Amino acid sequence: MTEAAVAERPITSRQIKVGDVPIGGDAEIAVQSMTNTMTYDVEATVQQVYDLNAAGADLVRVSVNGSKALEGFKQVVWRSPTPLIADIHFDYRMALGAADVGAACIRINPGNIGNDDRFRKVISKCMEKEIAMRIGVNSGSVEKRFWDMPKEEALVASALHKVEIAEEMGFYNFKVSLKASHVPEMVEANRKFREHSDAPLHLGVTEAGTKLAGSIKTAAAFGQLLPYGIGDTIRISLAEDPVEEIPVAYQILSSLNLRHRGPNVIACPSCARTLGFDVIGMAAQVEDALKHYEDHFTVAVMGCIVNGPGEARDADYGVAGGKDDGVIFSKGEPLRKVGRDDIFDALFEEIGKDGWK
Ligand code: SF4
Repeated sequence: MTEAAVAERPITSRQIKVGDVPIGGDAEIAVQSMTNTMTYDVEATVQQVYDLNAAGADLVRVSVNGSKALEGFKQVVWRSPTPLIADIHFDYRMALGAADVGAACIRINPGNIGNDDRFRKVISKCMEKEIAMRIGVNSGSVEKRFWDMPKEEALVASALHKVEIAEEMGFYNFKVSLKASHVPEMVEANRKFREHSDAPLHLGVTEAGTKLAGSIKTAAAFGQLLPYGIGDTIRISLAEDPVEEIPVAYQILSSLNLRHRGPNVIACPSCARTLGFDVIGMAAQVEDALKHYEDHFTVAVMGCIVNGPGEARDADYGVAGGKDDGVIFSKGEPLRKVGRDDIFDALFEEIGKDGWK
């Protein structure tokens, strides 16, 4: 087995650390999500953090939206398998408290944290605890003083204002996010910000929507930024179980050849040449059986022997259906012919022989 190659991209940011996870510079793009449990429900929150970690999240963000949540966060932190980012809403004192109980990063939204003095207090605390901060600007909550600007410029101006305050204090251990729900606005804001600052960027399309729409919007945005070195950590915001966000994140990164986790399943759309072989059902079955694999290899599900193996000649393994039987192939070359009902088992026998997991 060989390590899957990834595309090189320009380095446009400095590197910081969130716990032991490097963000920016030449680090691989970090994947994160956020719990949606009540943080005071410690057992449910710890379980979700573990589930996200098992799915491949490098970092997990947890709401600290009040003193009950802070109490829960304190207990979740020491049981967490990943560095935790404390998400602060309006009360800067929760940021101070979360830093004291072990947050690896404090995420604040300058638009709702209040005045710059409060922001400075949070920075001082991050410096004292030697932890990171995310300055997270959202188009829906940009500070009033920037309201007369075009939206993407307001996002940039708001972020740069806070960046300036942080750097004046000698604090550089932060990343920035400029989020909008409208894809062109989010893309433009991140591009413009990068012209002015080398702070690592957290990318996300906010309120992206349900699984299909949200995934497509996010992929459309990330595809315009990540290959060009803009974006160091990502979150896919879906109206879904947050664990579902992680495979979407890897699918996007893998499609851009920037980071791989798990196999790549390709399938033909099928046509009359399948002679009745159920490509759609087989592709779904294969994808489902592969979803817990972490190794990266390509499996093709093709509808016919005439075109299938040739068209999928780059695939490490493939099946091509026929009237009563099918062919298992590798790199375009047939391995064996099997009866139609045995295709699935034979494919996984071949995958198993090579030790993928
Ligand atoms: S691989 Fe065969 S079955 Fe699939 S779309 Fe192409 S010709 Fe049709």
